[in-house]
Amino acid sequence: MHRSITGSLGLIAAGSVMGLALAFSAQAEQRFITIGTGGVTGVYYPTGQNICRLVNRDQASHGMRCNAESTGGSIFNLNSIDAGEMDFGVAQSDWQHHAYHGTDRFADQGPNPELRSVFSLHPEPFTVLVRAESDIQGFEDIVGKRVNVGNPGSGQRGTVERLMQEYGWTMGDFTLASELPSREQGQALCDNRIDVILFTVGHPSAAIQEPIATCDARIIPVTGEVVDKLVEATPYYFHATIPAGMYPGQNEDVQTFGVGATLVTSTGTTESAVYHLTRAVFENFTTFRGMHPAFEVLTPEGMVSQGLSAPMHEGALRYYREAGMLAD
Ligand code: GLU
Repeated sequence: MHRSITGSLGLIAAGSVMGLALAFSAQAEQRFITIGTGGVTGVYYPTGQNICRLVNRDQASHGMRCNAESTGGSIFNLNSIDAGEMDFGVAQSDWQHHAYHGTDRFADQGPNPELRSVFSLHPEPFTVLVRAESDIQGFEDIVGKRVNVGNPGSGQRGTVERLMQEYGWTMGDFTLASELPSREQGQALCDNRIDVILFTVGHPSAAIQEPIATCDARIIPVTGEVVDKLVEATPYYFHATIPAGMYPGQNEDVQTFGVGATLVTSTGTTESAVYHLTRAVFENFTTFRGMHPAFEVLTPEGMVSQGLSAPMHEGALRYYREAGMLAD
């Protein structure tokens, strides 16, 4: 009896020493991790915050502290990861694809073979917002208007430029092409300083909700041959619907096209850091999905299979295999 008690205490002691050693090695490896997001009124920012909240709940076991920063958006995040300034970032599926392959606006800097995907997130319909009294009914009507094309570094700025190319438009086709960051565009629309907001974002989002609540702004559909061609020609654009009732006063489905938000990192981020972040999200999946209404549509199966063009990071793969979410 006595011996067996001593024996199990000995085991507990050895266990906690091992735990400490593990925590210590994780600390030595990567103590802080950062996630680049987007403007504070978008969905990327709360996404990063929520992921970090789950990671930080387990800080005692893995020794890492996670911090999510507001940034200029997808392209800024991809560049910061490439430069080793950030560990993780949220990025649109189109720009993940181009950054990895060195195409489109990443052609000058060339491919980034170190880019890695972790999982995909919510869909981001391309969203066009105008004031209540605007005569704009379809996307083609934005020619000759004051349009916020998005700040350089944002995902929507890149997607807008790509779409403009397809339409054969230049910035000169707008009376004004402003570069306001997402958190400022709603106010500018309601103050009549711009006529159109273009934003690739998950729904619902405060960035869209605010101008709808403040000045009855309306969402305009983006459909037609040009969009159909774009969707057919690429693996990362798809037809998308903003369902009726998403925002007050929006009584009909709005058809548009969209991309998927994804979480990316690089080979420079440790296996253990990516493993623990991935684990924190999927071990608490119901909590995670409940953290933002744009996450309602997420499923673990979809998150490991959609919109990921860069190879998966080995730390994420280790978790998916362990959890039986991917075959060995
Ligand atoms: N899709 C946008 C971008 O890549 C950000 C959307 C958001 O902030 O939720 O810049």
